[in-house]
Amino acid sequence: MLTSKMIKEAAYAAGADKCGIAPISRLKGAPKEMNVSYLFPEAKSVIGFAFRIPRGVQRGIEEGTQFYQYPSIAYGGINEIFAPNVLYQVGRVIEDAGYEAFVYRNTGARGCVSDMDGSEGNSLSPEEQIEYIERGKKATAHHRSVQFTRAAREGSVPPDLQFQFRLVAVACGLGEIGWSKMLLTPEFGPLQRVAFIFTDAELEYDEMYSGEPLCRRCGACVRECPGSCIPAINSGKTVRVDLDGKICEWGDIDMWRCYAFYTHGGRYYNPFVPKEVFDKNENGDLNLLEGKTEASETEIMKVYGALEKYFPSWVGYNMAKCGGCIRGCVSVLEKKGGCMEDRFKAPLRTKKAWKMDR
Ligand code: SF4
Ligand code: SF4
Repeated sequence: MLTSKMIKEAAYAAGADKCGIAPISRLKGAPKEMNVSYLFPEAKSVIGFAFRIPRGVQRGIEEGTQFYQYPSIAYGGINEIFAPNVLYQVGRVIEDAGYEAFVYRNTGARGCVSDMDGSEGNSLSPEEQIEYIERGKKATAHHRSVQFTRAAREGSVPPDLQFQFRLVAVACGLGEIGWSKMLLTPEFGPLQRVAFIFTDAELEYDEMYSGEPLCRRCGACVRECPGSCIPAINSGKTVRVDLDGKICEWGDIDMWRCYAFYTHGGRYYNPFVPKEVFDKNENGDLNLLEGKTEASETEIMKVYGALEKYFPSWVGYNMAKCGGCIRGCVSVLEKKGGCMEDRFKAPLRTKKAWKMDR
């Protein structure tokens, strides 16, 4: 008989750092386009896996000396290699027991609604757009959502169905969502990525996290975001979700603004781009990074277009320039506690965070 214990043993043996299991019924309140019950209507259980992000991939950003390890290992490596391997191995155990394992790794930006803001239709994907125009020599528009998708059968939802990974991780008992919208876990703070298996097997379920709040509401993520993308703790700008009785609340982040600053950092946090480029701000292309306009797809395209030539190469995933909210969060949690306690002998941050003088 297939048990949760067998699944967790297989998960840890294959390399997962955390594994939690929830009944699908815990997710019943999700909006239709993101409701996992349409994925596999007979599914009874969802199994969540967390994969730690090594703290060391943030070291180069913390020192201002190496920016590629975070996107290549912590995004690309986990999403493309480490997590799929665990899904595959655990899926085999489930299917050997006669149940189906609908494995679901992180694919992103493939849903019928934008993964940036939940809006339907046309939201551009600037980096892919540039890649296609310049390297593929095609003018095909690339989006954060699929454009002309239709439900394949009556009463269903258009493919590809994407769901809120972090909320499903909370449902599986892996952790809580912090003010910065990151998933926090007691062991790794904000440093993990997640993946899932949906199965028709009924299993023993984990409770959702109910200990002391993992987010300290300290505001370090707000202060250390170079683009002021995360609202102040007492601003009242929140997103609130009732997840089968567990209230999850986080700051209503300006995701499009984050899109620009995460990759490009801005004047004080981007050592790859000469100061003169920001001073000149040709055609007003850097108005968004210079704080002179609000975030919009048009403004983000201008930023990507203007700064793309200053980067050595892409690594498949956007490079991380800021990492501000994550590093700020790790730094606070390590020093003040709540989670990540005693994981490392020395803290991530041993000197003042850098900011270029220009
Ligand atoms: S990833 Fe960077 S730009 Fe985005 S919210 Fe965090 S600190 Fe701000
Ligand atoms: S930095 Fe502070 S407020 Fe922000 S998510 Fe982490 S613990 Fe919460």
